[in-house]
Amino acid sequence: MKHASTITRHLVGLLLALACGAALALPRHLPVPGGIAVLELAGAAAPQVHFDGRPQPVVRENGRWFALIGIPLDSVPGPQQATVDDGGRQRTQAFTVRARHYPTQRLTIPDARMVTPPPELAERIVAEQQRLDALKRHFSPSPAPATDFALPAAGRLSARFGLRRVLNGEARAPHSGLDLAVAGGQPVRAPAAGTVLAVEDFYFAGRTVVIDHGQGLLTLYAHLSQVAVAPGQAVARGAALGASGASGRATGPHLHWVVVVGGSAVDPELFLRRP
Ligand SMILES: [Zn+2]
Repeated sequence: MKHASTITRHLVGLLLALACGAALALPRHLPVPGGIAVLELAGAAAPQVHFDGRPQPVVRENGRWFALIGIPLDSVPGPQQATVDDGGRQRTQAFTVRARHYPTQRLTIPDARMVTPPPELAERIVAEQQRLDALKRHFSPSPAPATDFALPAAGRLSARFGLRRVLNGEARAPHSGLDLAVAGGQPVRAPAAGTVLAVEDFYFAGRTVVIDHGQGLLTLYAHLSQVAVAPGQAVARGAALGASGASGRATGPHLHWVVVVGGSAVDPELFLRRP
C-alpha cells in the first residue's frame, strides 16, 4: 500500500503540474560569472530578494520559493550573498560563485567602422549604452515570470554567450548574448509571455525589441530587419516579434538574443531544455 500511495502522490503532483500549464521549469543552476544561482528560499510567503542592490526574480515551483540570481559576467569567483526580505525580516543567503572558462573568439572584420566607430558617433553610442543599461535594470513587480523558454528563432546556436572577443587584434566587450544562425526575414518569436518594454534602433544592435517577462526577467532581440510589435503590447509565448536581419553593425544576418536576470545579462542556454 505504501507504494500505491507514493504512486498516487506522484500522479496527483503530475496532474497538478499539467493543470497549471507546467510553465515554470526553472533555469539551470550554474553559479558562475554570467550564470544564475537558483536559491531555494525558506518560508511560506513570497520574499523579496536583492543581489548587489538589485531586485531579483522570485518564482514558485511545486510549492517552494526560488530566487533566480543573475550573476554579472565580470564577477569575481568566490563567496557571495543575496539579501532576503521575508515580510520585513531581513536575512542573507550565501552562495559561491565558481569560475567558468569562456573561450576567446578572434575575428577579422574588413569594415573598420564596425570595430572602432568614427568619433562623430561617440555621443550617440554613449547615449545608447546608457539607454540599454537603464532597460536592463527594469523591474516590474508582476506575478512570477514563466521561465520555460522556447527558442526564439529556428537556427543553430552559433556564437555562444560570454565569448571573449578580439576584433582585428583589439580586445572588445565579451559577447553578451547567444547568436542563432538564421537567414534574413525569418520569424523571431517570444520565448515566453511578456510585455514589449522597448523598440529601438541602435548603432551596434540595429532594430531591437526588448520584452519584459516580469520581475527583472527580460529578453532582447537585435539586428532585426522588421519589427511587428509596439511598446506596451502584451505578447504570448510564440508571438511574432518581427523578422531576423543584419541591421546595425552585423557581419551578416543572425539573431543576437540576450537574456537579463535581475539587471545582468546571463547565458540564455540556461533557460533552454537540453536535447
Ligand atoms: Zn551576438
